[in-house]
Amino acid sequence: MESYNNNPIPTNGEPIEVQDGKLSVPDQPILPFIEGDGTGRDIWRASRVVFDAAVNLAYGGRRSVAWYEIFAGEKAFTRSNEWLPQGTIDAIRRFRVAIKGPLTTPIGGGIRSLNVALRQLLDLYVCLRPVRYFAGVPSPVKRPDLLDVVIFRENTEDVYAGIEWQQGTPEVKKVIDFLNQEMGRNIRADSGIGIKPMSVGASKRLIRRAIQYAIENGRRSVTLVHKGNIMKFTEGAFRDWGYELVKEEFSDVCVTEAEAGAGVPAGKVLVKDRIADSIFQQVLLRPDEYDVLATPNLNGDYLSDACAAQVGGLGMAPGANIGDEIGVFEATHGTAPKYADLDVVNPSSVMLCGAMMFQYMGWKEVSALIEQGIAETILQKRVTYDLHRQMEGAAKLKTSEYAAAIVENMAARTAAA
Ligand code: NAP
Repeated sequence: MESYNNNPIPTNGEPIEVQDGKLSVPDQPILPFIEGDGTGRDIWRASRVVFDAAVNLAYGGRRSVAWYEIFAGEKAFTRSNEWLPQGTIDAIRRFRVAIKGPLTTPIGGGIRSLNVALRQLLDLYVCLRPVRYFAGVPSPVKRPDLLDVVIFRENTEDVYAGIEWQQGTPEVKKVIDFLNQEMGRNIRADSGIGIKPMSVGASKRLIRRAIQYAIENGRRSVTLVHKGNIMKFTEGAFRDWGYELVKEEFSDVCVTEAEAGAGVPAGKVLVKDRIADSIFQQVLLRPDEYDVLATPNLNGDYLSDACAAQVGGLGMAPGANIGDEIGVFEATHGTAPKYADLDVVNPSSVMLCGAMMFQYMGWKEVSALIEQGIAETILQKRVTYDLHRQMEGAAKLKTSEYAAAIVENMAARTAAA
């Protein structure tokens, strides 16, 4: 029997394939999942109940998911003494679409972060973070409903490439000597050094995905976010390469802010750019002017969490890491270990990751049902502890009870349709 990590592949499903660059999804796809560490266990159990119910309600048994457990993090380490076994990488490559809960970051042992390792090994170059408001969720701003953005963050380079040298080492001395002596710089001898590579290829493939997404989903604009006024040859170049790409590949469907003048022609996507510090003000003060945002790695990391906070926090924020033919959908919060196995945390982030995953697979009915189920349950003020402590008159549910309430709402909606 075929297996990865000594876990047999389910026999009641088939792999998702790619044909002519598009996913071809069978009615019983095999979907690998990584349960996640700490609270990941509670969250995954609850999420799977909601996913299976949504698929069943949407397709009345015609479609179903053959879930396939793969391992990373503490569970992998306990089983095989490896934090990220090769079998896990191979299984994701083969089955193409996977979902994961949060993973503990190992301390020591050569892996900086399992999430970063997964992104690099599978070349998942887009970090996709949609941020929208669910009515009833407590938020620190007056009109959280005005923010509805989709952030495309470059995932493979920038200062996150991990190319750095520690202060005081012979290696950093070599780099400093080179820069001072050969390149005419004047770097202090007691510095640590990090490198910020940004390439035309990686920038354009990210911006291309953002523009394609905007076109396919009827979005009005794509904003290139950069700090190009200071970092001209990296972030400034990111902006210039973005506009170059519009000219090269999208001139029939996009218009730049400079070209648009008084108005954007009907049916065209507006491409504009904003300086990174200014975009943090803009999303707070004029949120409805922004739509799809394309950013280098570091800016995107900060901006995604700031936007998530604006609509009620990370417990509700889904995310995905996407490459050319692979998508890994993952919670944006951590393992919250102090709540592990207590059945109390908010599973919405992983549930909304599932909604994104089904959307990516073309199972739009399932995606819509999950989102509506969550939205209705929150509106009914049936929530987990984190939202309960900020909402007046709410009922505090356990993680599993919250999942049951969502299933109840999805079933009621399907019956009424
Ligand atoms: P964290 O696990 O996100 O938890 C920080 C706090 O956020 C929790 O104490 C809790 O706040 C709140 N929280 C997080 N998830 C929640 C949920 N589902 N429902 C309700 N509240 C939630 O961050 P951390 O403590 O800094 O990190 C713990 C571990 O997770 C570390 O090993 C870290 O490296 C890892 N991590 C993994 C990922 C990932 O896999 N994507 C991401 C970030 C961190 P209250 O205490 O106020 O209730």
